[in-house]
Amino acid sequence: MRNCRRASPTARPDVRVVSTLAAVIALAVFGIDALTPLDIAVGVFYVVVLLLVASAGNRPATIAAAWGCVALTLLGFLMSHDGAYSGGAIARCSVSLLAIATTSILALRNLAATTLLHEQVELLKLAQEALARSTAELAHVTRITTLGELAAPVAHEVTQPIAAIVTCGGAALRWLNRPTPEIDEAAQSVAQMIRDAKRADEVIQRIRSMAKKRDRLPVAVDLNGIVGESIELMRLELERHRVELTIDLAVPPPTACCDRVQLQQVLINLIMNSVQAMADVSGPRKLRIATRRFDDAHTQVIVQDSGMGISEENSGCLFNTFFTTKAEGMGMGLSICRSIVEAHGGRIWAESPAAGGAVLQFILPVDEGRCHEQ
Ligand code: ADP
Repeated sequence: MRNCRRASPTARPDVRVVSTLAAVIALAVFGIDALTPLDIAVGVFYVVVLLLVASAGNRPATIAAAWGCVALTLLGFLMSHDGAYSGGAIARCSVSLLAIATTSILALRNLAATTLLHEQVELLKLAQEALARSTAELAHVTRITTLGELAAPVAHEVTQPIAAIVTCGGAALRWLNRPTPEIDEAAQSVAQMIRDAKRADEVIQRIRSMAKKRDRLPVAVDLNGIVGESIELMRLELERHRVELTIDLAVPPPTACCDRVQLQQVLINLIMNSVQAMADVSGPRKLRIATRRFDDAHTQVIVQDSGMGISEENSGCLFNTFFTTKAEGMGMGLSICRSIVEAHGGRIWAESPAAGGAVLQFILPVDEGRCHEQ
């Protein structure tokens, strides 16, 4: 079910507490104004009452307080001057009324602006939630699309061990059917069958975990392991395009706290892009995948190819959603890679070395033992 929890606005003082306090101050001001012979515009202090009520963020209460203050000022004026209204008294009363009117207008305007701001913040939060949901959905769809593209090689990858199992099974039977059964040889064939069955099972598990909709909790992941798994998934694609692969893994293996399936998706996207970028080059198709320590806090994964490279014009847009230079491209891959890497507290960027080709690389914070164990 969608999480439709609305954003809570900034806390404001309770309107009842504020009203009680404001009433006490208003009565005190009124008492001084009506019952003491002070020749000053005491009514000006009603602005404190107004500001207090306005701080609760309640428009009707602020309007009521404004009218109440006007009424008390006029009543105080009538009571304290007993029919003898001097010019000075009228001027002081006018100053008080003017102060109340100005404060009321400003307070009401401020309230309207604050309410608008709160509404916009709420809308922004809802939009952010919707964006996060859409990105997750999109990442899933892209994963499925990638799987679709990988379907043929993957089917081949599963068929291979199954064919080997059949061959080994036949061999085992032949060893056993000899006049003197060769138990050791048959056992070796059965052991090979078990290894092949496990290989097929691993391929299926990798595909299943990639197709799963729900991602698991971030765990402490061995980046070298993820690189290996992603290459395994892409192995036939790399062979088909005659890509010379160099793997350069950090020792000891770097660990990062991340969702392994999402990270696998990033690597597969980068490798797939490299394969496509090298498809039309005449020279050797070289792909280097490396992991290394970037600095004290980060570990780095590098995917470098000898493809067509990245033009200066395109370098600023690669990670933009829907940016593509391919006829059949969706322009989603790198944008999703960036969302995933940044959601893990990392950074991804691209370079085009002078020697040619492209280097796509990302860094992730190293796991400092706070992550779940795998
Ligand atoms: P798509 O693959 O659908 O085009 P991406 O977001 O994966 O979408 O890639 C966006 C664009 O970035 C590609 O169209 C391509 O122009 C460029 N690009 C990505 N990887 C490379 C690379 N390794 N070498 C050269 N250009 C690349």
